Amino acid sequence: MTDPEDLAERVREGDLRLHELEDHADYDTAAEARRLLVERETGTELEAIGDYAFPAERADPNIENMIGAAQVPMGVVGPVPVSGGAADGEHYLPLATTEGALLASVNRGLSVIRAADGADARVTKNGMTRAPVFRVDGVAEAAETVDWVEGNFEALREAAESTTSHGELLDIEPYVVGDSVYLRFAYDTKDAMGMNMATIATGEACELVERETPASLVALSGNLCSDKKPAAVNAVEGRGRSVTADVQIPGELVEERLHTTADAIAEANTRKNLIGSAKAGSLGFNAHAANVVGAAFLATGQDEAQVVEAANTITTMDARERADGTTDLYASVSLASLEVGTVGGGTKLPTQAEALEILGLKGGGDPAGSNADALAEIIAVGALAGELSLLGALSSRHLASAHEDLGR
Ligand code: NAP
Repeated sequence: MTDPEDLAERVREGDLRLHELEDHADYDTAAEARRLLVERETGTELEAIGDYAFPAERADPNIENMIGAAQVPMGVVGPVPVSGGAADGEHYLPLATTEGALLASVNRGLSVIRAADGADARVTKNGMTRAPVFRVDGVAEAAETVDWVEGNFEALREAAESTTSHGELLDIEPYVVGDSVYLRFAYDTKDAMGMNMATIATGEACELVERETPASLVALSGNLCSDKKPAAVNAVEGRGRSVTADVQIPGELVEERLHTTADAIAEANTRKNLIGSAKAGSLGFNAHAANVVGAAFLATGQDEAQVVEAANTITTMDARERADGTTDLYASVSLASLEVGTVGGGTKLPTQAEALEILGLKGGGDPAGSNADALAEIIAVGALAGELSLLGALSSRHLASAHEDLGR
């Protein structure tokens, strides 16, 4: 077996490069050699980073220059009662975070939802997008290109879908800015988050566009996609799954469990999530949807940078008067662009795959796409619980005391 000390030494001497170690040793030894090198160079001991619980080779598609693993504490909340288009019944939702009080807060919201007989959730739109940018001579060529694209959707669909057995091209939305043409391709990527799938398929379609029109491809992503950036196009048009969850909570439950009233929560939501967010120029009109989404993404192997898109969430809270004179609280969250998958990317890593198993959603669904739909619906209900709990805490003014009680 290759000695990691020798390998580390060879890197230090410039005989090997940091990323070449897997060519000379098995994956775990390569990671150990890199760790030794970093320990020496930085005067550190990386015992915890090196104490990972899966074969390093399993992470090869997911990381370069591996030295170990970042272990983020994981807990569960729930069970989450969800009546969805794809999700049904009760699920424990695994969340990984370093923010104390987050799971306690979400769990409190879920217990209220559970007592109110559960939440409804639906994926209302599904389309992973990739928007290449082309150069043309001017407006006339831009119009010619757009005309051709609009008249040849079938040929473009055939080209794109030739690269994937699961992906389906749904739509191509053209945008022209002077001598730049953007084509926003949208795909049903089934149970995959789909960014690689959509990129490869779009690349194939672009070759056809270049052959048949005056347009030249400048970049396969022209940022109108828009991936991992705050962007109104995602908030309006959606990206990945657009998913909504709602619940109607009897007033007495709001008082008993959240120690406030439907009217007080509705007012806090209007002034904070709606008016405050509008004044701030925010794309998201919510309290902390990204908190639940981020923790669920880390636990289940999603692409964590896409939490940016998930922050495009609108929360509504309304007091609804009932015939008997009591007042219910109606609460909803609408996540315009939640990019999730149960196959591909980080979902195959052992800890993340186990987290998906907790939800019963590991791998492809039957029918294809149903597992990713269900994951989106369950995360949306988790986000709804987080909104309810925080809004409840704010309107009963005990936000600080909850953190104090938990010692944070
Ligand atoms: P992927 O791991 O590249 O692809 C998943 C593959 O699984 C699909 O291509 C599909 O093969 C196959 N598959 C099997 N069963 C499936 C099912 N039930 N539903 C859908 N597909 C099924 O994953 P991806 O979701 O396309 O991309 C995610 C990765 O892209 C992440 O690692 C992320 O970090 C990365 N990423 C890439 C970019 C980029 O620009 N390239 C940007 C952001 C993130 P077939 O296609 O043959 O059907």
